Order: sequence, then structure tokens, then C-alpha cells
Amino acid sequence: MRPHRFRDVTRIGPVQVGTHNDRRGREKHTAACTAPGCGFSADYPDRSAAELAARTHRCT
Ligand SMILES: [Zn+2]
Repeated sequence: MRPHRFRDVTRIGPVQVGTHNDRRGREKHTAACTAPGCGFSADYPDRSAAELAARTHRCT
């Protein structure tokens, strides 16, 4: 369910935003929707982009 170790996890609506480091140690910011059947998940290079995506996400 959670392939990475997230830190600083916040929830914006149904979307969780968390920060983690990829295999190369670079910081990534992931927005992942927790709504059943949605499946939205995306990585962003900075936190503000991930939070913006979370705020503007609409489940299909
Ligand atoms: Zn969604």
C-alpha cells in the first residue's frame, strides 16, 4: 500500500501529500489520493507543487 517511507504527511481532502527520498536519495513529494477506486498518485519535485496538485485534484 505504501511503497515508500513518507514523512511530513498531510492530508488535503482525500489526497495525502508526503515527502520521501527516492533510490538516489533525492527528495520527492508525492500526492496520492486515498479515495476508493481513484488511484491518483504522482511525484513532484517540490512540496508546493504536490500540495497544489492535492488541492486541485478532483476524483473522476
Ligand atoms: Zn481522487
